[in-house]
Amino acid sequence: MSMEREERIARTTGAGAAAGADDRGDKKRSMGRRKPCKFCGDENLKIDYKDQALLKYFITDRGKLVPRRISGNCAKHQREIAVAVQRARMIALMPFAVTGE
Ligand SMILES: [Zn+2]
Repeated sequence: MSMEREERIARTTGAGAAAGADDRGDKKRSMGRRKPCKFCGDENLKIDYKDQALLKYFITDRGKLVPRRISGNCAKHQREIAVAVQRARMIALMPFAVTGE
């Protein structure tokens, strides 16, 4: 009995992956005017982990949480969003990660 199964693990030297991030160029910083927190402004708006349509707004295409700077949420509500998304993920309403197949 000879098992001729050998798997070669080709170890790639992963140092490439150049991400095209452009830091420079656009000098557009909105000073003074901060985006108001959506939830603080509207009391009727509730953060619910079952509300996919709402949570979807706060995650990226890849399924990651949108940072507060971009979403404009206050700390309190951003946290609630984060918790809601985590719950939604647990019951498979939301993706943990969207991998580009
Ligand atoms: Zn808020």
